[in-house]
Amino acid sequence: MSSRILLTLILPACFLFQTVTSSETQAETTKLRAGAAAVDITPAVGTSLDGVISKNGPVTGVHDRIFSRALVLDDGKTRIAICVNDLCMVERSYFDRAKKIVFEKTGLPVDRILMTSTHTHAAPRVPYGRASDQDDAYYEQLIKQMAAAIIQAEQNLAPAQIAWGSFDAGKYAACRRFLAEKGSVSLNPFGVAGEQIKSVAGQSKSIIQPAAPIDPQCSLLSVQHRDGTPLAVLGNMSIHYCGGYQKGQISADYFGAYARQLAKKLTTEKSDPPFVGMLSNGTSGNVGAVMKQDKKKYAAFEWIEESGKQFAEQSLKVINQLNYKSDLNIEMLEQELELGIRRPDPARLAWAREILEHPQQKTAHRWAKIYATEAVELSKYPPTEKIKIQAIRIGELGIVGLPCEVFTETGLAIKDQSPFQATFSMELANGSSGYLPTPRQHALGGYETWPARSSYLEIDAETHIRQTALKLLNQLHD
Ligand SMILES: [Zn+2]
Repeated sequence: MSSRILLTLILPACFLFQTVTSSETQAETTKLRAGAAAVDITPAVGTSLDGVISKNGPVTGVHDRIFSRALVLDDGKTRIAICVNDLCMVERSYFDRAKKIVFEKTGLPVDRILMTSTHTHAAPRVPYGRASDQDDAYYEQLIKQMAAAIIQAEQNLAPAQIAWGSFDAGKYAACRRFLAEKGSVSLNPFGVAGEQIKSVAGQSKSIIQPAAPIDPQCSLLSVQHRDGTPLAVLGNMSIHYCGGYQKGQISADYFGAYARQLAKKLTTEKSDPPFVGMLSNGTSGNVGAVMKQDKKKYAAFEWIEESGKQFAEQSLKVINQLNYKSDLNIEMLEQELELGIRRPDPARLAWAREILEHPQQKTAHRWAKIYATEAVELSKYPPTEKIKIQAIRIGELGIVGLPCEVFTETGLAIKDQSPFQATFSMELANGSSGYLPTPRQHALGGYETWPARSSYLEIDAETHIRQTALKLLNQLHD
């Protein structure tokens, strides 16, 4: 959470093999090729960082460099790209512009490209954290760099084999929203009573239980060259971030530490082009930071490095036991959804203006002025917003790309109801669009549900998004 409340069909891939005459040649062309690449996207000193609880502000130094990492897969018929970026979040139009560059340079259709942010808070929030012209210049450069990561990954395509697996990372995850007794939660910033969510449990006797289950699964897609040399690993973990930063220092959080550790362990003398490790964020909008496993006091960034190492070590155990395949189908579908925006009604807008016109007046909630400002900002939004939902099939693995900071219940429901052997979701994919509480969580209330630029889609948005994702998975499977 930030201290500032902020706020198809398969087209032939450009290299599609022409008419295949012999069955032997056909078998060869359906074999998998893969390429990966990483491009440094570290901003210069002075660019705005997102930060956590008073740790935002301009970049003053670099703890660890941040990257745009891309994986391109091709089964001889369909080519797709997945691009994971060490950023807090990215608004849809910026991803769309990067995809357009990729299409113009390579012919890869924009609906074959999934782009996402890891949600490290020690990196820019594009463009929501904008504070200066320097930020705009960085965003322009970033669009080209993200496109370059995909273009390079495509240039690196080589015969490959692939496998997937998972391990239980549940001990590191905890729901950060707590269900409290009725009547125990004070008025929300709008002066409304009846909510049942406490965001910090503390020792409160009114806490009943966490408001939602965690998703303990860390999923892994491991890609090797045909001779078994590691090529890339794409992980997926439903833990919000790690934190423990230093003000002004840029960092890819545990996502970057994981990538570095995997590269350290899996790089060999044959790793040319370099091995690329990447970790995507699953569905963690309601999950807290990576849970420490001891009472030790960690210095800044120390737990980030240590937890990334622990996740990489557990991933390696899984990777070494997998059975790799090179003859599997790759397919991808995308659907656009138009969803309503919770703009303030006349009464809420009048409340906001009253608060803002009398800044000295005492308010019932310490964030009333912030949410009054947010109400005015939301009143300028259009009535609806178009978002993209994507689903990918890699053999019997399903991957879903969802915008928003998605709650665990949504990710768990998609895993449970997916027709594939294994499935995982990436949040903040192809855009941001704020938190995505389920209708039940909306009814319970809490920070993530309060209308603001950080949470503005209609109450039923989660239902539409989840159902669309499952529909696309079923279409891919049939
Ligand atoms: Zn966050």
